[in-house]
Order: sequence, then structure tokens, then C-alpha cells
Amino acid sequence: MSETIEPKKVMIIEDNEVNQKISDMIIKKLGHNTIQVFDGKGAIKTIRQEKPHLIILDIQLPENCSGIDICKEIKGDPELKHIPVIVVTALHGDEDKKQITAESGCDEYIAKPFLPNVFIDAISQFIEVNSVDWDE
Ligand code: MN
Repeated sequence: MSETIEPKKVMIIEDNEVNQKISDMIIKKLGHNTIQVFDGKGAIKTIRQEKPHLIILDIQLPENCSGIDICKEIKGDPELKHIPVIVVTALHGDEDKKQITAESGCDEYIAKPFLPNVFIDAISQFIEVNSVDWDE
């Protein structure tokens, strides 16, 4: 039996249905609640309302909305900047990683497609997680 942890709110900002579903499933398995957001337009407003403990943020979002701009806005806001942001993106060259990290101010960066363990390791840097037995 894994010990019970206090559930936290994790916001997933991701337009791809499959990636949303995978992220949502993993985060719930880790013992946390999710807030699923599929585009970038109202994201900052939702963050202000919900005050998540962690944000998973895609970079390429609909309507030319960039996760980089959302992250910059979070990190430039005194009330939001403490919220850790994990950028998850298909842009995965070393230069992309350097540039996105420097420009956005994100706390962690992972490339898509990711292995569940990579995702879990990234999350567990910021919030406590339940240990997951994937063979269950
Ligand atoms: Mn996307």
C-alpha cells in the first residue's frame, strides 16, 4: 500500500486530446487532481481563479497562442510566479530547449513524446507524488 498524500491541483494546458488524456491519467495516478485547459486564450484567467500548485504547459497552442508567452506572463506576475511550470513540447532540439527555457522562464522542460517515468520525475521535483505500480 502506498501512503496517502494530500491531493494538489495540477493544471494541464495542452490542445492535443491524446496528450491531455495521458497527462491527466498519470497525474491522477500520482494522487492529484487536474484542471484540463485545451487552449491558451483564457489560461491566465483560469490560473488566477484556480491557483494551481503546478502547471503542465504545451508550447504550440491553437490560434497562434504560444505557451512561451503564457509562461512569461506567469513568471512576470508577483501573485503567480511561485507556481512551478513544466513545459512539455514537441520542439526538442538542444537549441529549442535552451531558447524556450531562457525565454519563458519555465522551471522544467520535457520533450514530447515522453516516457511516463520522465514525466513523473519532472512532476515529483515540485509536488509529492504517490508511488505508482503500473502493473496493477
Ligand atoms: Mn500543442
